[in-house]
Formats: sequence, structure tokens, C-alpha cells
Amino acid sequence: MGISLIVHSGAGDDIHDGLVEPFRRGVIEAAKAGWSVLQNGGSALDAVEMAVRVMEDNPTFDAGRGSFPNQAGEIEMDAILMDGATLNNGAVAAIQRVAHPISVARLVMERTPHTLLVGAGAEAFARSMGVPLVPTEALLVERNDAPPTAGVSGSFLPVQDTVGALALDAQGHLAAATSTGGMRDKMPGRVGDSPIIGCGAYADDSIGAASATGRGEDIMKVILCKSACDLMAGGLFPQQAAESIIQYLARRVNGQGGIILMNPQGEVGCAYNSLRMGRAWVNPDGEIVAFV
Ligand code: ASP
Repeated sequence: MGISLIVHSGAGDDIHDGLVEPFRRGVIEAAKAGWSVLQNGGSALDAVEMAVRVMEDNPTFDAGRGSFPNQAGEIEMDAILMDGATLNNGAVAAIQRVAHPISVARLVMERTPHTLLVGAGAEAFARSMGVPLVPTEALLVERNDAPPTAGVSGSFLPVQDTVGALALDAQGHLAAATSTGGMRDKMPGRVGDSPIIGCGAYADDSIGAASATGRGEDIMKVILCKSACDLMAGGLFPQQAAESIIQYLARRVNGQGGIILMNPQGEVGCAYNSLRMGRAWVNPDGEIVAFV
């Protein structure tokens, strides 16, 4: 079975020219890391976790270090990881003080009877698992991209830089992962689509895998990732399904965002209706292709 990997680093209307190169470098670095896991016989779950961890470490992106603070100045992060073989999944929401929310999500999946832990409970669980806590200041990053101006219309999608990854391993299993600091200037306690199964990510070996980015309040209304996987189950190629679901997001709820998709054969697709979206995938010959 051929292996496959695709990553994204979020969709936005103000990913300005100065961000293009850092985005490109960031998704390439993540794709390399995930690909090397797969090449060494690692599982799809290991590969998506690794690719997302690399992007959580990258201060360019709104995940892990570099997450946008909320209106109270706190960093509250959301992440989900899903195993296409079993449909098991784990997620955290509004978690603070961890460098890699995606790895805590994996621990939720593997070490608890639950699928989603939030806030202080998620942090306490991480601590109980030996995950080191980091001060908020270590996650905060000085950014030179201007915040969206007041009064910006609802059709403008500010840079969010949520990250995600999909993989197919040599055993034919799919996995999906998504991690985010959430929308810029969000209210304390706000949780978007990212940690919600079927919305921010989905993976099922029999129909495909998906990871989303964009305004979570829109994405949740249309269960974006599961809906896109269902389109692939209905016979669409990943690129067709990606374009179709993003058109639907826009048409049905005036939503803005992007999605990456992978079918059970490892073919990939990506569509977005913001100005730019960072993404990279690995061709079967190992060549990494990146666009922003
Ligand atoms: N979907 C994320 C959220 O709403 C943000 C993003 O993808 O840019 O929290």
C-alpha cells in the first residue's frame, strides 16, 4: 500500500506577502517530518501527530507556540486527532499551558474512556500524564501582522494559521489531526470547530480523512469534514469533494475557510475560499509540493 501525507497551515484573507515564505517553509518542514515517520514504518497516527507537533512549535502558526491570545490575554488551544481504523478520537479544548495540544489529544484518546477534555480538566489530565506545563508567556509570540480592524465585515477572514495533517500508512490506515489557538480576539472560553469530531477533522479508513480551517462558527454548521468525507464516499475525487464542500460552506452559511482531504487510496485535495491557504503534500516519489 502506498503511503501519503498532506498538511495545512490555515486559511486567511490577510496572509500577506511577507507571510508567504514563512508559511511555505513551515508546511514543508512539517511534511518532511510526517513523511519520515511514514517512511520508517510509523503509523498514520504517529505521522499526523508529528507533522502537527512541528507546526505547533513554529511561532508563525496559530497553534501551540504562536497561538493568538484571547480577549483576556490567555492562550486557550483546541486540538483533535482521529484514527481511521477504529474511529477512535481524542480532543482537548480551551487547554492552557501545554506546548503540544495534539499530543494531549492523543493521550485523551488512548488513556481515557472519554473523547474530549476541556479547560482546567484537560490541563490537570495532561499534568497527570507527565506532560510538562509551560508558562503562557512561552507560547505568546510578538506578531508583526496587524490584527483585523474594527468593523471588518463578516466576509473577511483574518489570518488564523490553524494547522492540520492527514496521512495514509503502509497498513492502509488513515489518520487526521488538527490543532489551533482559535480565532484571533476570541472570547475566553470560546471553542471553535477544530476539536469537534466531523467539524475540525475526520478520518475513516473506508471513506477518507479531512482537516479544516476557517471560521469555526461557520464550519460547525455544516459539519464540514464529515460532509466532505461523505462526498468522497459518494464517488467524488478528493479535489472535487474539497471544492464542492467549500462552495457549499459559502453558499449555505456564507462561510469562509479551507479543507484538505485524502481518500483511502491516498489521493489528496485542497480547496479554500480565502485569499490564501498554506499546504504541502508529498508525491509518491517523495517530492514535497508546497503552496501558499
Ligand atoms: N477553525 C479555527 C477556529 O475557528 C480557526 C482557523 O481554522 O483558522 O477556531
